[in-house]
Amino acid sequence: TLEPLYIITPTYRRPEQIPELTRMSHTLMLVKNIHWLVIEDANVATKQVTRLLERTGLKFDHLTAPMPEKYKQKKGAKPRGVSNRNRGLQWIRANATDGIFYFADDDNTYDITLFDEIRKTKRVSMFPVGLCTKFGLSSPILKNGKFVGFYDGWIAGRKFPVDMAGFAVSVKFLLERPNATMPFKAGYEEDGFLKSLAPFEPRDIEFLAGNCTKVLAWHTQTKKNDPSAPLDMKLYGNTNLI
Ligand code: UDP
Ligand code: MN
Repeated sequence: TLEPLYIITPTYRRPEQIPELTRMSHTLMLVKNIHWLVIEDANVATKQVTRLLERTGLKFDHLTAPMPEKYKQKKGAKPRGVSNRNRGLQWIRANATDGIFYFADDDNTYDITLFDEIRKTKRVSMFPVGLCTKFGLSSPILKNGKFVGFYDGWIAGRKFPVDMAGFAVSVKFLLERPNATMPFKAGYEEDGFLKSLAPFEPRDIEFLAGNCTKVLAWHTQTKKNDPSAPLDMKLYGNTNLI
């Protein structure tokens, strides 16, 4: 029997939301025994997102977890998707007993073989992420199969300088750590979460994707769109599209 994979996806309302989730859902539909936790940074779930999820035939839960007002007001970098991911962790603690979870942003690109890799996770696994930071890659570095450090364009004093899409965690491992949580600290979300999994050290990492020789996830970013044209539909009496 295949262990369940819990995919924790933060998302928020914007013109790109449905296209991003459509693309991502079509990836997940090719993978067995997925449970998709889609968590919106909002007070109310978006109806169109629920409909999309229902159409996929995937096991899913559609939850909401708004970013606290004090972070929303803040100028500069905000802790994006942190409320959502912590809500996902709370769901796992309440509902899951085994399997593996993975934080998968809605705008990234995933090779379906990544999910076969992630399923091998016993405690915490790591693997490369392409198109990440100015180096174009974020990855553990292995020399002759031995871990020697991290390659990342933004080390910034982090113990675990990795991308959100670059690691997976076993549910049992999380359940043994009741205090593990993601901090509301822009740029340090991954590091803070991985440190909160103590006792857990770099020597404990399980390396996947051919000992980190294959890129199976990309930190792609969709350009912002400003669709004003559909408003013209009003002139033609078609209000369905708005
Ligand atoms: N996100 C969110 N609320 C926001 C901004 C982003 O829930 O106000 C989600 C977004 O949908 C994505 C994740 O948080 O799944 C990371 O955001 P983004 O992709 O914008 O960050 P970046 O790629 O720049 O790290
Ligand atoms: Mn992104």
